[in-house]
Amino acid sequence: MAEDRSSSNGTTFCNSHASSKKCSLLRTRPESRSESNVRSYPRCLIIALVTVIIILFFIITYLIFLHYHCAGLKWPWAESNSLSLEGAAVDSSKYVRLPEKVLPDHYEILLKVQMPDLEDKVQLSFNGTVQIQLTVAEDTREIKLNAHKSLSIISCRLTGYHNRKIHIQKFDYTPSEDMITLRLSERIVKSNQYNLSMTFRGSPHPGDVEGIYSGNYERTEYVHYPGNKTKVVREIRWFAVTQMEPAAARKLFPCFDEPIFKATFSIAVVYQSEYNVLSNMPVVKDEVVPGLEGWNRIHFQRSVRMSTYLVAIAITTFQSRQKTVQNMDNETVPITVWAMKAEIDHTSYALRVASESYVFFEKFYQIPYALPKMDLISVPNFNVGGMENWGLITFRPFYLVSKGSEESHYGICKVVNHEIAHQWFGNLVTPKWWNDIWLNEGFATFMEYVGMDAIEGEWDVWSLFFVDATMEVFSSDSLVSSHPVVHEKQIANRDDLKMFFDLISYRKGGAILRMLRSILGQQGFKQGVLLYLDRFQFSSATSEDLWNSFEQSRNRSEIPHSITEMMTEWTLQLGYPLVTMHVDYGQSSEDSVSDSSPSSNPISVTLSQRHFITNLNYSQQYLEKTDSNWWHIKIDFITSDGQTHGEWLTKEPKNITIELNQTNSDNAKVRFILANSRCEHFYRVNYDIETWRRIVDALREDSSVLDSATKSCLIDNSWELLGANELSADIALDLTILSVQNDTSYPLWKTVEHHLEIIYTLMYRSGEREKFQTYCEQIVNISLEAETNLSRSDFQATRKTKIKEFANFIGHPQFIAQSVSQAEYWVASIMGALNESSERVMGSGFGFHVDIHDYQLCAAAKAKSTDFSHLLHQLFLSGQVNPQLRSRLIRGFACTNDATLFNHILDQAIGDINVPDGTQWKNDELGYLIITGAGKGTNAGFNVVWNYFSIPEKFDKFGYRFKDFTFFFKNILFAVYSGQDSEYALQSMKKFNETHFDKLGAGQAEFYRLIERVENNVQWSKYARPQVIHWLNQFFD
Ligand SMILES: [Zn+2]
Repeated sequence: MAEDRSSSNGTTFCNSHASSKKCSLLRTRPESRSESNVRSYPRCLIIALVTVIIILFFIITYLIFLHYHCAGLKWPWAESNSLSLEGAAVDSSKYVRLPEKVLPDHYEILLKVQMPDLEDKVQLSFNGTVQIQLTVAEDTREIKLNAHKSLSIISCRLTGYHNRKIHIQKFDYTPSEDMITLRLSERIVKSNQYNLSMTFRGSPHPGDVEGIYSGNYERTEYVHYPGNKTKVVREIRWFAVTQMEPAAARKLFPCFDEPIFKATFSIAVVYQSEYNVLSNMPVVKDEVVPGLEGWNRIHFQRSVRMSTYLVAIAITTFQSRQKTVQNMDNETVPITVWAMKAEIDHTSYALRVASESYVFFEKFYQIPYALPKMDLISVPNFNVGGMENWGLITFRPFYLVSKGSEESHYGICKVVNHEIAHQWFGNLVTPKWWNDIWLNEGFATFMEYVGMDAIEGEWDVWSLFFVDATMEVFSSDSLVSSHPVVHEKQIANRDDLKMFFDLISYRKGGAILRMLRSILGQQGFKQGVLLYLDRFQFSSATSEDLWNSFEQSRNRSEIPHSITEMMTEWTLQLGYPLVTMHVDYGQSSEDSVSDSSPSSNPISVTLSQRHFITNLNYSQQYLEKTDSNWWHIKIDFITSDGQTHGEWLTKEPKNITIELNQTNSDNAKVRFILANSRCEHFYRVNYDIETWRRIVDALREDSSVLDSATKSCLIDNSWELLGANELSADIALDLTILSVQNDTSYPLWKTVEHHLEIIYTLMYRSGEREKFQTYCEQIVNISLEAETNLSRSDFQATRKTKIKEFANFIGHPQFIAQSVSQAEYWVASIMGALNESSERVMGSGFGFHVDIHDYQLCAAAKAKSTDFSHLLHQLFLSGQVNPQLRSRLIRGFACTNDATLFNHILDQAIGDINVPDGTQWKNDELGYLIITGAGKGTNAGFNVVWNYFSIPEKFDKFGYRFKDFTFFFKNILFAVYSGQDSEYALQSMKKFNETHFDKLGAGQAEFYRLIERVENNVQWSKYARPQVIHWLNQFFD
């Protein structure tokens, strides 16, 4: 990012786009401005100078006139050179938005795309024209629109009524703002229409993953000959695809590149005939270009009104599978999945989900899908999970191509539903500005589960929602470094927009919508959604607009509080509340909890709320400072005998006490009371210690006394409360080991595994893992045992794999032995296959029939000597393994316990030392190496990565490679830093943040959070660790 900014000066523009003659002409201008010296010259000299200037002025004017008129549309680029220098001085501390005086109605885009061919040393490039029909909303003499500095504008022309040309006096370009300003010789008038035409060209930077970018893959054909002979034919195939969100359309064509500026688009592409071209809309015609052999021109239908970030083009040689569905108007709509030839046979699940999801959402939203077709395309090396481009949805192959497992299907079902939900939430109704991006992402996160629930009814999707959405964001939103759902942070430039696409927008956004649905009821919620979509379709909206729609669907007798007032507390304040519940069971302290004798007093429940912050360094001072942080909270509580009660907790009074209106005999049956038992609402609950103990005792007697979703919620609360020094360790440890007994729920296992992995890492790094490992081993044994006792339910295969993965991670001896022997056999099989054939080896099913999990390779690399890791690395370097196998090998040798070897590999991966031809590391692969080595590997890998990242030049190199891979980059930072728990590490990170803040790019906010997490870890070591050790000592006495 920094490199881009520093190079964005006018000279670069001039040199690359204008003749040197014109540049030098203009460069003389500032020098001739030294007027103060002029006065000291003799009068005649002044007159001569003035005369020269006047003559020069006329010559330049004439030249410009001549150039402009004789060459048709050509705009002299040198003119903009001087202006872009002027722009460089503009304060770029705040993102500069486009004025809303001139609005685009329609874009007519023609692009000629040259695909890369490295053999001929040709890179991806394009040139094109755009004609933008404009309507003036307010009289003005200026038009502003966006273009990225990588785009070269060749010509520019503005016409009005009857094609009358309007003179552009000045063409100004501000690279730091990606902004073109056209200063006009006359005023353009409100309500009138104008036509702005530009011609341009661009050569995307290799390695770029936004705008239009290219990639390649190896396509393998097996040609069979008589006599059982097979010839393997390989060729490199190229593809080019667009990724515009949030603001990269300006890298492909000049445009009004903000979500509020919706327009229709007619796109045509001139392309090399061996490719297929897709865009948002269906094809109108595809014809050979006369006089341009080997090239075709394809025209697509005019689109519906949409924002620029949804424009999409894909140029590939992929194959397709199609299904048709009937839309609401009984028309046939084709749904097509596109993928590389090697993948296409594994896309039938995605195609089924897409078709069912389409039908479901159309019915749910009660608004027809707006386009006549829907394409879903698998894009190798895609930098996000999926992108909802209207009518042409792009995916990482992981989310479209099935691996056959339930886990793979879960990922596909989730992301396909997410993107299809966006076709309404996001595409049809769009946030006015990116700070409200949660309207897109929070909604799609929530709706993906609504869609999944409809399609895969047997999955326990709402428990999965808790684990995958709520639990994750619960943890990060209890940090002071969190931020409100509606972003308030001032941003400086285009790259900063990516910061808005974070956990809070997606998962907290989704979680508060789930809470709202629980408050409004299914019907009330749906009504609000329909009102909002209906009112703002083909337009844009804000959070307030959404709340107003829900306000209208509120049942006032059941919900006494304004939805807008209530929900803005959840979207404009950071964090969430901790509800403390104190129950007086109406029994004297001597009574046993299981005593069934009637109690003489009623049960009373006292509730209070406060902002939950895990970091003790801040919690007190923060609470004092932000006394206003409170929320409207709907408390649903349930007694152990199944009675439910509802109550509202607001700012005043701070504490409320409710007496349960029950008979004494009912009281006796109440062993405990829970609030927000399944974490449907976005707040945590802490109970008085007696209630916690009653819960633990009840589970000890019968673990099925609570359902799995409730146990997940309690386990998550208990570990987080322990971390915040609000609860003692015995509750968390007891609750966890008791909950897994006779329970085969996959989401419950994910909750347990999530917390135990974090604690194990902290114990392992500090050298105190032994007894905690034994505790974890017992949990593994109990969990696997439960499976043999109980009938199978959904995700059982995935659950079993995950348990085994965890067992390997913690070094469970029985599982390690299995992994080592399987890994040895697997490696021997590959070696055998390689010896038999000089051809490359596939990940499975080619040459040998052995498969292995990545975690088993990792475990074997940890357990065995360096030789084994070295062997895996040599296989990787052999150039004889395909990409799937490469990534598998990385996840093996990344776990080596040999620091020297890891260091050497990291140097290779980052490009500090050479690797043999054909084994260059891809970005994905470098990411996996670091995430596995630092997060799952041994202290050796962890320390090497830590040291590596401490060296500024090395970090810079690394950060530059990942600057556009926002999500990936955050995951890498998390793997490297989140497990630190020493003061030394904390201070180093703070120092690093001071010196490297700018270079962290999209990871800046994440790094702040990581610093706070490490502060929490330090705190954990101080308060929680001794308690955990004490409990373990007693438990294993
Ligand atoms: Zn999304």
